[in-house]
Amino acid sequence: MPPSAQALRNGPVYGIHLCMHTTSFEVKTRDRDDFVDITSQVAGAVRDSGIREGAVTVYVPHTTAGVTINENADPSVVHDIIAALDTAVPWRQGFYRHGEGNSAAHVKSSLMGCNTCIPVRGGSMALGTWQGVYFCEFDGPRTRRVIVTITGG
Ligand code: ZN
Repeated sequence: MPPSAQALRNGPVYGIHLCMHTTSFEVKTRDRDDFVDITSQVAGAVRDSGIREGAVTVYVPHTTAGVTINENADPSVVHDIIAALDTAVPWRQGFYRHGEGNSAAHVKSSLMGCNTCIPVRGGSMALGTWQGVYFCEFDGPRTRRVIVTITGG
């Protein structure tokens, strides 16, 4: 259904002008399980978009990788997350059926999720002091892709 004239008039009434910017970048991972800090690339995409208020979605178009937000001050945290995931989801299990042999990577991918969303305020991500955005590799090393969409005004 086409937008009504009333709906079109409502935009300027509320002063809303939404923009959407999409970009992507490559991530090279270094190990079978590897977390790569992509905070600076995402921050750069937000800056380049010119959007001041809105949100940024970080999307990973892969089934054996993910994205998460966690502490980027102490590298031991990332080590411990990878070790805990590996303990919870071992690479070999008698009940796995997937013929490719990388079921653990698929399970870890779903546990972390393939997207995250961060508020954009004043032109930059409203991350907490200790938060960083991590690309999560579970079947590397590989070259991966991350898609970043910034929506707002
Ligand atoms: Zn597979």
